[in-house]
Amino acid sequence: MAMPSMGATAAEIDIQDFLADAWRADGLDVQTWDIDIAELSARPDFPGMEVDRNCARGVLARWPGTGDGPTLLFLGHTDVVPPGDLAAWSGDPFAPRIAGDRLLGRGSCDMKAGTAAMWFALRALRDAGVRLRGDVLLAPVCGEEDGGLGTYALLQRGLRADACVIPEPTNLDLIPANGGALTFRVRVRGLATHASRRTEGVSAIAKFVPVLEELVRLEARRNDNVDPLMQRWPIAYPLSVGTVHAGDWSSTVPDLLIAEGRLGVALGETPAQARADLEDALAGLCATDPWLAEHPVEIEWWGGQFASGRTDPGHSLVRDLSDTIREVLDRTPQVYGGPFGSDLRLLVGAGIPTVHFGPGESAAAHAPDEWVSTTDTVACARALAAFAMVFSGVA
Ligand SMILES: [Zn+2]
Repeated sequence: MAMPSMGATAAEIDIQDFLADAWRADGLDVQTWDIDIAELSARPDFPGMEVDRNCARGVLARWPGTGDGPTLLFLGHTDVVPPGDLAAWSGDPFAPRIAGDRLLGRGSCDMKAGTAAMWFALRALRDAGVRLRGDVLLAPVCGEEDGGLGTYALLQRGLRADACVIPEPTNLDLIPANGGALTFRVRVRGLATHASRRTEGVSAIAKFVPVLEELVRLEARRNDNVDPLMQRWPIAYPLSVGTVHAGDWSSTVPDLLIAEGRLGVALGETPAQARADLEDALAGLCATDPWLAEHPVEIEWWGGQFASGRTDPGHSLVRDLSDTIREVLDRTPQVYGGPFGSDLRLLVGAGIPTVHFGPGESAAAHAPDEWVSTTDTVACARALAAFAMVFSGVA
């Protein structure tokens, strides 16, 4: 079965309904609801949305325990990013195929294999006749890639759990923290004139050059001294410009340049602090240039606004899951922070200790010929099943 569940497509809803039906058939208590996007997106702490969605489905499945143990949440996003340049793929991105140990296809690594692992971990426990003391919840969520709509909606509905494991691709290591990412747009103004008289105009492209240089310096400054969990990354908190658009005619001096990018948010830093850092840097730059002083760069924060998030690496969730992985898989997982934003920060922000643990290399995510190891997917399911017994207790 193939579901091209890119954000804002009909398949993003189909996959939620598919899982709800499958889990009902498995005998779980399943709730589904239509997410009220208009109502949620008007809230001040709404995490943002970058695609045009007018409907979305919430799903939550519960495997009730005997009622005297902690509740464990397994949460996986079902949305995937678009395939990018089709020529870079060796086959149809949405026709999944297996080559050796690799399952290839858009979303295989990020993160349908992980979502399958959490499902089959629970199914294995049920099939083995295990009864747990605490509840285990399965939450498939939409809209993670562009902000976190699905998890935000779950939390706004009053979701409660004592811990959460997100099987995002970690190559079976443990990621209890991640940096955030804030999407920004800058507008640089110029003055249009005929290119043959260019010295009488002001090129927005030329004025963008020092802006870009300032952003490069800002990135370096913000990565000077990072949290020990993040030290494995060459750049823990990347600041990257992803799009630049300027001008509308080759022989006109361009009067407007619009660039969009993402600013990494450090562990322990609030999004407001990170925004102020970039705004102050560009304000300082503009003050040094007569044109920019009069026509300052305009900064807009839009789309995904991912805060950073951190579960203490010494927390029992991290320790116990690490012990379980060592026992079941005979490997010692590394523990480190991720440089990407994820739903972890929303859950940690709601007081639910959360860790990423899943199959797949994060470098394969969002890439052509995205792939995941089938062996590691099964290994993840085994470890999750064992951990549910450790965490929620066997009745
Ligand atoms: Zn993901």
